[in-house]
Amino acid sequence: MNRVLNKSSLRNLTGLIQRFQSTLVVAEHNNDKLTPITLNAITAAGKLGGDVSCLIAGTNCAKVVEEISKVQGVKKILVAQHDSYKGALPEELTPLILETQKQFNFTHICAGASAFGKNLLPRVAAKLDVAPVSDIIEIKSPDTFVRTIYAGNALSTVKCNEAVKVFTVRGTAFEAASAEGGSAASEEVASTPPAGVSEWLEQNLTKSDRPELTSAKVVVSGGRGLKSGENFKLLYDLADKLNAAVGASRAAVDAGFVPNDMQVGQTGKIVAPELYIAVGISGAIQHLAGMKDSKTIVAINKDPEAPIFQVADYGLVADLFKAVPEMTEALSK
Ligand code: FAD
Repeated sequence: MNRVLNKSSLRNLTGLIQRFQSTLVVAEHNNDKLTPITLNAITAAGKLGGDVSCLIAGTNCAKVVEEISKVQGVKKILVAQHDSYKGALPEELTPLILETQKQFNFTHICAGASAFGKNLLPRVAAKLDVAPVSDIIEIKSPDTFVRTIYAGNALSTVKCNEAVKVFTVRGTAFEAASAEGGSAASEEVASTPPAGVSEWLEQNLTKSDRPELTSAKVVVSGGRGLKSGENFKLLYDLADKLNAAVGASRAAVDAGFVPNDMQVGQTGKIVAPELYIAVGISGAIQHLAGMKDSKTIVAINKDPEAPIFQVADYGLVADLFKAVPEMTEALSK
């Protein structure tokens, strides 16, 4: 028999559906500390309405378990520890996630849209035989997600009919879950036998006292206008006065001025700091795709026609080699 639902029973039904949701957030960490994007993914998972569990796979990750247990919105922590989870290789973590899924039957599996999440979840989705949804910026309902396309210039709303929804979350699109006030219980899950397909050998981290690019409140980025890697020193000096991270355009990376982990844009990192200072960057759409959600944008460019000025809140038409040292000096006073 068909029943016609009025508004209040429709609300009840939506509430009922949400109670049946359960989401697994795969935590990104280094066995010592949680990577901030996991907190954004937890907020996104919370918007689905059901229970949120976190999977922590690592080698000796008690500190991370403690950290997540205090995060608001997390109900349960699943912990798997084994040497083979060193370096978070997707080949090793995927069987673990599949086993966990068999046991708990989550309706959703997600992670941050970082190199970690983008490496891991497509593999998980393929093994579950479902299509993943990448880099979402909004959750409309448990099966409807919004993401950007065309270098961030259009929004696409995706309805996902898969039995398990597997997705990555753009960190800058969701607030970080509060790191205090939660009281999640943790339980050990059995580790999976090493897949042995690949082996983690070592990791060389770029050492920097500056904040991490994707979570910094202030970002100073340089483009081809800097003319050389040595000239980036001007930006490092300015950044140090502002406690800022330093980013770059793809042209600056391709020219070998700076390493590619500094690239901001469609094929680089997506940032949305309080303040973004673009120096010697023309403002191509692929660059804007990575920074146009910044709260305040300042552009320094000698060409008054540069497209960057169309998105800038404050524009300075000037020679960067003069303007940047002047700014650094003014901040030193
Ligand atoms: P340019 O466009 O050459 O601009 C340099 C600017 O510096 C100019 O505006 C000039 O007026 C100014 N300038 C020069 N000298 C001075 C001076 N002395 N003082 C002040 N200003 C000065 N780009 C990205 O940044 N990120 C991406 O992720 C990205 N992904 C891409 C993906 C695809 C598929 C494609 C096709 C392109 C992508 N690009 C990306 C490249 C993008 O199209 C542009 O080529 C690039 O952003 C240009 O970098 P730029 O602004 O540093 O260089």
